[in-house]
Amino acid sequence: MSRRLAQGFRPDRPGVPVVVAIGANLGDRAATIDAAVEDLRALPLTDEVRVAPPISSVAVKLDGPDAAAPAYLNTVALLRTRLAPWRLLDALHAVEARHGRVRAERWGDRTLDLDIVAYGAVRSDAPDLTLPHPRAAERTFVLEPWLALDADAQLPGSGRVQELLARLQADA
Ligand code: ATP
Ligand code: CA
Ligand code: CA
Repeated sequence: MSRRLAQGFRPDRPGVPVVVAIGANLGDRAATIDAAVEDLRALPLTDEVRVAPPISSVAVKLDGPDAAAPAYLNTVALLRTRLAPWRLLDALHAVEARHGRVRAERWGDRTLDLDIVAYGAVRSDAPDLTLPHPRAAERTFVLEPWLALDADAQLPGSGRVQELLARLQADA
């Protein structure tokens, strides 16, 4: 999809179902997640925001799981939006910034991380917005809360979330 086409609002089209992964491992994680969900509800051209109960998971750093790092709370929000994909990403980055997100090292500790797991069935290879999120299928902390919200969830290109999760749990 060209970035130009993706820019701007599309008031002629119904909302697109979007899956947002939410993570926090610094500060008052639960309060930050609650506030971020309220920020999602306040986004323009966006409604039907639903969120799963957060789950706790060990931090994963570049060299693997790190039990010494502060643990994460993770959850997933489902919403419908008429914001174009890059507009939505910009809005999510603004929400992260509002909650004190600082970008230092890759996969470093953070107050808030918001990733677009899927934007409808849109596929994108752009490095600044890859869709679906290329690592979602390997992440229990994404699949588990997503499945809690939608027992029939499908990750475009990868299949049923229930099966992806079962496979991860069998490998664990
Ligand atoms: P990971 O993507 O493995 O979960 P991360 O969330 O820690 O890592 P960030 O530092 O938050 O990575 O983001 C790095 C860049 O990833 C962002 O600047 C953003 O442009 C890009 N990016 C690419 N695809 C996506 C996506 N689907 N959702 C959010 N950001 C994305
Ligand atoms: Ca992330
Ligand atoms: Ca991110």
